[in-house]
Amino acid sequence: MKIYISADIEGVGSVARHEHSRVDGREYPLARRLMTNEVNAAIRGAFEAGAMDVTVSDSHNVGLNLLPEELDERARLVMGSPRTLSMMHGIDATFSAAFFVGYHAMGGTMDASIVHTFTGRIQEVHFNGVKIGEIGLNAALAGHFGVPVAFVAGDLAACREAEALLPGVRTLAVKEAIGAYAAICEHPAKTCRAIHAAAMEAITNPPKVKPLVFSGEVELTVRCTTASGADRAGMIPRTKRLDDLTVSYVGSDVIEAFKAFNTMSCLVELVPFI
Ligand SMILES: [Zn+2]
Repeated sequence: MKIYISADIEGVGSVARHEHSRVDGREYPLARRLMTNEVNAAIRGAFEAGAMDVTVSDSHNVGLNLLPEELDERARLVMGSPRTLSMMHGIDATFSAAFFVGYHAMGGTMDASIVHTFTGRIQEVHFNGVKIGEIGLNAALAGHFGVPVAFVAGDLAACREAEALLPGVRTLAVKEAIGAYAAICEHPAKTCRAIHAAAMEAITNPPKVKPLVFSGEVELTVRCTTASGADRAGMIPRTKRLDDLTVSYVGSDVIEAFKAFNTMSCLVELVPFI
């Protein structure tokens, strides 16, 4: 059995502000250690429950957060960027389930830790009219290969978002956000024990969650925070400008729609000012 773990940092326990999540932040060295510990807890849980192979995707910023030497050596690490499938690069039909660790809610969610969808310059993303954030985008990529998301660890808002989109998914809230930049957290050791137990449980007693499937053509709409962002997103061939801030693109399947989104998220960040 193969398990794919996609790991972000904003939804890690005891991470509350950009001082943690930005690579030049005062608390970033601590945050990457906390992230590594949570991912290790999930890896250990997966192997102890019978997984034979675990692939971990370092999925925050440019993918250089997890401390490779401290990572459980049984796991393979996908790191660096850019990657065609970004936070899910390497996912395919050989995996039995995906786990999301350190995940956060979509941009625009209240009482949710450091929320955004790929970048603060994107307000909203839809696939076929369904509003999604990183949980939905990445669950849809796994779903394309028939892989369900069995377990999500993140803040309470991320867990609620996952449960609404992926009924039956096992979730673990590692903190409760107070607005966007404050949170109530458990001790990291306690959080890691809970992640370990939940990861094991997600395999030994698999949730009845289905893969998130968008079949056939997928219409992507991206609402930017500025018209200049939409100008740049609209430079991609076959995009349509729907209004001042919104660009759409119809992909032949979810993978193509995601590739367009991934490219848009790079383009909106091209200029250093808004
Ligand atoms: Zn993220």
